[in-house]
Amino acid sequence: MTLNVLFAAAPERWDFYQAALEDAFRQAGLDAILRQEFAPGEVDYIIYAPNGPISDFSPFTRAKAVLSLWAGVEGIVTNKSLTLPLARMVDRGLSEGMVEWVTGHVLRHHLGMDRQILRQDGVWDPVIPPLARNRRVAMLGLGELGRACAQALAALNFRVSGWSRTEKRIDGIDCRYGDDGLREVLTSAGIVVLLLPLTAATQNLMNADRLALLPKGGFLLNPGRGALIDDEALLAALDDGRLAHATLDVFRTEPLPRDHPFWAHPGITVTPHIASETRAETASEVIAENIRRGEAGEPFLFLVDRGAGY
Ligand code: NDP
Repeated sequence: MTLNVLFAAAPERWDFYQAALEDAFRQAGLDAILRQEFAPGEVDYIIYAPNGPISDFSPFTRAKAVLSLWAGVEGIVTNKSLTLPLARMVDRGLSEGMVEWVTGHVLRHHLGMDRQILRQDGVWDPVIPPLARNRRVAMLGLGELGRACAQALAALNFRVSGWSRTEKRIDGIDCRYGDDGLREVLTSAGIVVLLLPLTAATQNLMNADRLALLPKGGFLLNPGRGALIDDEALLAALDDGRLAHATLDVFRTEPLPRDHPFWAHPGITVTPHIASETRAETASEVIAENIRRGEAGEPFLFLVDRGAGY
């Protein structure tokens, strides 16, 4: 039977994904039609992104799964009309991109690159950066992306601690969990990286109390989600020197409004949600494999735990 696969992402993403998805379907041996519109009752699988056209899933009576193009699912996980299995995106292209963004920005702060890049003023002022082995990085979130970034930083000799919801063992990473684990990880971190999903439990995680645990003069990188941080507390921590700099890729409101204080703050670097992007070619393989699994009666990959919220 020919499968009807609905592409329910933003219409401008169609050109980016169409050929890659159709190619991946062929490679997976799927007999499938990919379109941006079907009668809802005729759809077998929904490829979803939060900025697409669907908010009510109840008319999709025949659909077998919703396959998200995004790794973060906070915009859909609480949708009451969604009773189908929901798979999130785990894509090796997404992981590679995040490793590159995190490593690049960690190295910027670790090496103090701004000192040279922004001050070509004729002043010979040698400040020798410490070795990575003498800098501790805290990776909050040890999932697909956090683990890959933690391991890349450890391979550069950084001392990496990690924090997750459940207990973990990862070679070369000092893994902690729970409230005590978070306190231990933060109190020793020179650089903190947030790669947590946004859930009821992680919202405003980096509040004034947690920021106060950081050693003075540290750095914060947030490629996770904007609402992991209490914005006011962050500005206060920068203004009193607790934090030396924050590099932020994600925000409560995106695009970040032009008059938002983050733009003008000398201690903040804004990047416009570009830390990592789902890559059409590799992500299409993941989508095709999940459809193949659905048709073969095998368990879907990367299912979201609706109770945990990610
Ligand atoms: P995963 O679901 O694979 O990993 C999430 C990690 O966070 C896990 O280690 C999990 O713990 C941990 N976690 C979740 N809740 C808690 C909690 N309450 N306390 C402690 N730890 C917790 O997600 P990914 O690694 O794939 O992605 C992480 C996030 O990155 C996404 O949710 C998204 O928000 C963001 N992202 C940002 C992008 C960008 O361009 N800026 C691009 C892609 C993703 P455990 O291991 O115990 O389950």
